[in-house]
Amino acid sequence: MNLTGIQGRVALVTGAGRGIGRAIAIALAGEGARVALSARTRSELDEVVGLIRQAGGESVAFEADLSQRPTPAALVAEVQLEMGPVDILVNNAGVGSSSNPKPLVAFDDDFWDLSLAVNLTAPYLLSRAVLPGMLERRHGRILTIASINSRRGSLHGAAYAASKHGVLGLMRTIAMETAADGVTVNCICPGPVVSLMNDKRMEYDAKRLGRDMAEHERLQTPIGGRLVPEDIAPMAVYLASDAARMITGQAYNVCGGLVMS
Ligand code: NAP
Repeated sequence: MNLTGIQGRVALVTGAGRGIGRAIAIALAGEGARVALSARTRSELDEVVGLIRQAGGESVAFEADLSQRPTPAALVAEVQLEMGPVDILVNNAGVGSSSNPKPLVAFDDDFWDLSLAVNLTAPYLLSRAVLPGMLERRHGRILTIASINSRRGSLHGAAYAASKHGVLGLMRTIAMETAADGVTVNCICPGPVVSLMNDKRMEYDAKRLGRDMAEHERLQTPIGGRLVPEDIAPMAVYLASDAARMITGQAYNVCGGLVMS
């Protein structure tokens, strides 16, 4: 595969301390990207920076709480000051339904606001912050980790499904606005991936359905079981590369066959 176009580029990966973001950051660094990692948990970021540097890559950690409205612009400014212009933005940080699952009639308003802030408003503000430079340089990649719940509802997860449906519309619109300017904008829609977020959702659903965990795990996808973060990273690397230069405004399911459309 022609994965040129990543070497030496500055990639900002949000939620890079663990799970899917961590795997994407490590994979991009493996292709020669200089990777800015952000999240709230310093210790997790430091561990990933260590792994990337140990493998000969370049990486810097930036602590940032993306639920706060001024943070995305401030984060991009800080990254650009320290590492140079952002060429690849990976909107990965997210709040899962598993943190506070409830039917709509009992839904928690504060949790609604938090989910929308991190899953939808932060990608909007981060994209706004990186786009002027990308347009000027006539090169950029914006990747957003949406969800299979961008395709269907999420039981007891109204804020999650709404924010993940919304981010698809946002990214398709940015793609339309930037298609002729060397910038591509795409989403990945993962199915259930082993992570802190999804482990909690698994426990909630297994209990709700009266299944033991082994059976519940097995039934997660038609292929069988859950994905791991490293199943998602290659698609992100591909979409960031020159090989994907004619792909924009798309959303790809990486979901073990859970949704086939
Ligand atoms: P995870 O392991 O819980 O990681 C979530 C990441 O987001 C962490 O690094 C977390 O870091 C960061 N984050 C959360 N709230 C934040 C905030 N307020 N400010 C900044 N960073 C924040 O979950 P994951 O499964 O890898 O999820 C990554 C993305 O994939 C999310 O967008 C999620 O919706 C999506 N996704 C996951 C699955 C799945 O099954 N796992 C399926 C579909 C889509 P801190 O807590 O340190 O801030």
